[in-house]
Amino acid sequence: MFDIDAVRNDFPILTRRVHGHPLVYFDNAATTHKPKQVIEAITDYYDRFNSNVHRGVHSLSGEATDAYEGARARIGHWFGVEDTGEVILLRGATEALNLVANIIAPELSAGDVILVGESEHHANIVPWQQLSQRIGVQVIPIPVSDAGTLDFDAARSLTQTHPVKVIAAGHVSNAIGSVNPIEDFISLAREIGAYSVIDGAQAAPHLRVDVKHLDADFYALSAHKCCGPTGIGVLFGRRALLEAMPPWQGGGDMIDRVSFSGTTYNTLPWKFEAGTPNIADTIAFAKALDYLESIDFAAALDHEASIHSHLIEAMQARPHIQILGHPDQWVSVCSFNVEGAHPTDVGTLLDQLGVAVRTGHHCAMPTMEHFGLPGTCRASLAFYNTHDEVDQFLQALDRVTGMLTDS
Ligand code: PMP
Repeated sequence: MFDIDAVRNDFPILTRRVHGHPLVYFDNAATTHKPKQVIEAITDYYDRFNSNVHRGVHSLSGEATDAYEGARARIGHWFGVEDTGEVILLRGATEALNLVANIIAPELSAGDVILVGESEHHANIVPWQQLSQRIGVQVIPIPVSDAGTLDFDAARSLTQTHPVKVIAAGHVSNAIGSVNPIEDFISLAREIGAYSVIDGAQAAPHLRVDVKHLDADFYALSAHKCCGPTGIGVLFGRRALLEAMPPWQGGGDMIDRVSFSGTTYNTLPWKFEAGTPNIADTIAFAKALDYLESIDFAAALDHEASIHSHLIEAMQARPHIQILGHPDQWVSVCSFNVEGAHPTDVGTLLDQLGVAVRTGHHCAMPTMEHFGLPGTCRASLAFYNTHDEVDQFLQALDRVTGMLTDS
């Protein structure tokens, strides 16, 4: 049973006031808050067994290694991946997508095509453009529809006319909240012998993601969007591919033997994890997933979906508000503009009333370009938000709209 009051008590920051008002935090797509169980896991690690992993014979190092590797297994399990060799722990989705672009590079030649969703976050666009500059591959966007989802038929047509070797798509758009038909993109990639690369940064907090079931070649996400700490994320990759591909960064831990006559590499997953990893935050990310399980995550998502519907319906009923997209499947986000007002002004005035939303291009400039907008205000919900907070947000927005449209 999902108990919203008990859940909110687990998040100390939700009691904050901002400019004299109770905080209404609707910036969850940027980062979520952390329950005390996660915060305590970080202090507990530094208080009791802080030590470097993998290389020590002493007790603390053994305990840290067990906790770190145990956390890897926990993280894999939550996302349906039991082979820990397929769970690469990195700084976040950005580092994961950069890693993929770099390790795929030797498989590609000049003229090969990489299809990239037009509505992607820059983290799933720029690494492919850098690859294009380096080796001459061509990056072609998969168009986004006016509803806000990636156009699968257009992608299929592109594969019939171009030598497509990679399809890179976001599971959920961070600027719109639309859920893309990634199962179709993954099957299409398999059908034509291309790699599928999925950015799951916004899906992991709002859907029950089973990476094994989706069966993409690569799936990336960040812990901090799922109630875990910043600076930790995961790349799930198919074992056979990870084994065949070269490492990216070099250094400690990723090697088997180093000699000036030749160096050999570690086995999976450590081959892709050079240097001292983010031990405390990996352990705390596993604790965040324990937490999501403990509150009945499926019920938490039902609650979130119901407040999201309330938000969207109320926003659609407001004549001065334009909403970005109208997808069939929609999670967490409502990206909008107040007619005649700049999003920064709207966001700044909302902040004065205690409401936190994000404004701007949301690291998705091509999406803004598609819709002909300089940016939007983005309200993004998490399961710990409430129906009342949506109403407080709406009241604040009505005041702000009045101020900006009267003047
Ligand atoms: N992809 C999407 C869809 C995102 O929303 C974000 C974070 N805004 C990222 C990638 C990058 O995540 P991070 O900054 O945690 O690496």
